[in-house]
Amino acid sequence: AQEWAGRHITVAGLGVSGVSAARALAGLGARVTVVDGGDSATHRERAAELEREGIAVRLADADTLPPGTGLVVTSPGWKPGSPLFAAAAEAGVDVVGDVEIAWRLRGARGEQAAPWLAVTGTNGKTTTVQMLASILEAAGLRTVAVGNIGTPIIDVVLAQGRDGAEPYDVLAVELSSYQLHWAPSVRAHSAAVLNLAPDHLDWHGSMEAYAADKGRIYEGNEIACVYNVADPATERLVMQADVEEGCRAIGFTLGTPGPSELGVVDGILVDRAFVENRREQAQELAEISDVTPAAPHNIANALAAAALARAFGVPATAVRDGLRAFRPDAHRIAHVADVDGVAYVDDSKATNTHAAQASLAAYESIVWIAGGLAKGATFDGLVSASARRLRGVVLIGADRELIRQALARHAPDVPVVDLDRTDTGAMAAAVREAARLARPGDTVLMAPACASMDMFVNYNKRGEAFAEAVRELASGRHPEE
Ligand code: ADP
Repeated sequence: AQEWAGRHITVAGLGVSGVSAARALAGLGARVTVVDGGDSATHRERAAELEREGIAVRLADADTLPPGTGLVVTSPGWKPGSPLFAAAAEAGVDVVGDVEIAWRLRGARGEQAAPWLAVTGTNGKTTTVQMLASILEAAGLRTVAVGNIGTPIIDVVLAQGRDGAEPYDVLAVELSSYQLHWAPSVRAHSAAVLNLAPDHLDWHGSMEAYAADKGRIYEGNEIACVYNVADPATERLVMQADVEEGCRAIGFTLGTPGPSELGVVDGILVDRAFVENRREQAQELAEISDVTPAAPHNIANALAAAALARAFGVPATAVRDGLRAFRPDAHRIAHVADVDGVAYVDDSKATNTHAAQASLAAYESIVWIAGGLAKGATFDGLVSASARRLRGVVLIGADRELIRQALARHAPDVPVVDLDRTDTGAMAAAVREAARLARPGDTVLMAPACASMDMFVNYNKRGEAFAEAVRELASGRHPEE
């Protein structure tokens, strides 16, 4: 086990993961300083609380390295180019993230460390680790979905074996590209990259850097590297990875699977990679209708989750039971209501073009509510792929002009209402405009292809605003602006 007592550790960021890291490391005897550029009332309140626990906090200065620092632990939001990291590099000090710390803390109490089944990808991570946890539970294993989801991963790992608590058998770990960037020594039992599309390029600097960070998840895998047959970039990452001897490359596909693949045959999810009876060519796992929602991208998520569970030795019946028991989180292609024969669907979680394209592909005639913060994305691919499905478009948010231009290029005949608004009330107005454009049988789909922070605190609030506006529409009241 690593020695933490007496080490000088600087934690970058006073957010949820920073506070969790600071407390955990201080609890192990490290001398912790948290630095943050902010200096608001909330910051000062949090700082006072930590200082009472013996943790030093420095506000209003995020750029200089506290003297004596031997390790920097960063929060996900901090960009690689931050001056603090340049200062650390100059001083020869390592910078790592919360996931790296959690990895190094495994088994710290002498307990058997649970192996990690890890998932990354541009979209579908949360859904897939939740499906995976549901499958593992159906197999009678003690597990939890952690990482870029739920309780901070350091807290989960440190709770292992504490006060006689029974440790987990295996963890279903969601890893963002940020977390992978700062987690050099993590070695998963098996891992999956679901898909790779441009996102967060402003953070990573380039598509190559983003892909390289995602690819880190395969490094040192023991049993299986799971990739998406329809997304060759994910398979390339497998081939570039340095894995344990005997580790297999396992593909998943919505088509008929080849050997070493999971796929779909006649509406059945089948596994040709981990066959239980050697006389059989394929193992049936579940029916498409066992997956909610049964949209194509979500079947792909289910296959990836199944591949990881099967790599861990889970029987086919548990895959079926686990998928049946799974329900998606809010704001992910959630049907809100039918009003005048029009379905209203909240996919606020579609915060990039790749996710929006997946949900637009799930419907035929759509009035699309889109716009927000583009994060450096372009919209030509999304709009040209979806143009024939669009009845109309309502644009909101800061970067709507980028979408409007793409629509002018690739869907010139589709009516567009540009609301030219970024206030919170714009969502109600957008729903009203969408209702005007829609015909019975259509779907009004709020899948903005953009982040929400120009108008809302987060995508949850954006989804709630949409649902509220739809309910007002349904009740015949005039939605408030
Ligand atoms: P993440 O945790 O990677 O952000 P989520 O499971 O929360 O992923 O889903 C995010 C968004 O991506 C949702 O809008 C969802 O409809 C869409 N999505 C989910 N799975 C996929 C997939 N495999 N391919 C494309 N889009 C997807």
